[in-house]
Amino acid sequence: MSDGGDGRDDDGRDEVVRFWQRLGLPGIIDVHTHFMPEPVLRKVWAYFDAAGPLTGLEWPITYRHDEEERLALLRSFGVLRFTSMLYPHKAGMAAWLNGWAAGFADRVPDCLHTATFFPEEGVADYVREAVESGARVFKSHLQVGAYDPNDPLLEPVWGLLAEAGVPVVTHCGSGPVPGAYTGPGPIGRLLSRHPRLRLVVAHMGMPEYAEFLALAAAYPEVRLDTTMAFTDFAEDLTPFPAAERGRLADLGERILLGTDFPNIPYPYAHQLHALERLGLGDAWLRAVCHGNASALFR
Ligand SMILES: [Zn+2]
Repeated sequence: MSDGGDGRDDDGRDEVVRFWQRLGLPGIIDVHTHFMPEPVLRKVWAYFDAAGPLTGLEWPITYRHDEEERLALLRSFGVLRFTSMLYPHKAGMAAWLNGWAAGFADRVPDCLHTATFFPEEGVADYVREAVESGARVFKSHLQVGAYDPNDPLLEPVWGLLAEAGVPVVTHCGSGPVPGAYTGPGPIGRLLSRHPRLRLVVAHMGMPEYAEFLALAAAYPEVRLDTTMAFTDFAEDLTPFPAAERGRLADLGERILLGTDFPNIPYPYAHQLHALERLGLGDAWLRAVCHGNASALFR
């Protein structure tokens, strides 16, 4: 992972550090990184490996290291706080994942204690338990989980999370693959019932960027994470509309750095440079890469 003494920097660490040092930041906060039980992560990697032949989309994982090495790498990048986004694809998994994530946050204090849920019997109970035991952020994946955020089983969950002010990073956009419940419609209906929910739209809502930015403009607690957005990879597939650039500046206090580390098909620094080349200025970059998340998770 590191330069092994020969001066090479294969992981792009120097570029990452130069980025936040130039901005005068103490480091960066990444709200969208993945740490999971090893067998689950292997399955995720196998999915991305198969994505090439299946969809014509090559997705080589840049940081396919073991857990210790991935943690050391994030820290060497100067990532001060991060998350362990995990998510079930079926019933009966979420409580187990939450147990793992609580243990992970215990042994990795710079990781925000992360939790998840699925529409199933008992969901309100294990979500309440997670919040009471200190979960700081939740992940909901509507494409992988293939559930409706408006499922009646989840009604008490959203209410509880809104009341507790715990952010929920939600994969609700229809990229890279749409699902039955992705897109702004289902989430819009959810927000109309829970307007104070701290929903963080993952991936800037790609490809429905404009619609999700409109939701953020309408609901002051809605935020968006930058995960993969604006990178060459995303711009090739689903370019961010130039007409929406002004809204990025207007909503600058509600945009949070996210990256999808380690499951990304390019070096970590590319996400940062992709934000920089938007040309929205250093104050915007400082807010997005540090200040906004620091305020949210104070
Ligand atoms: Zn992700």
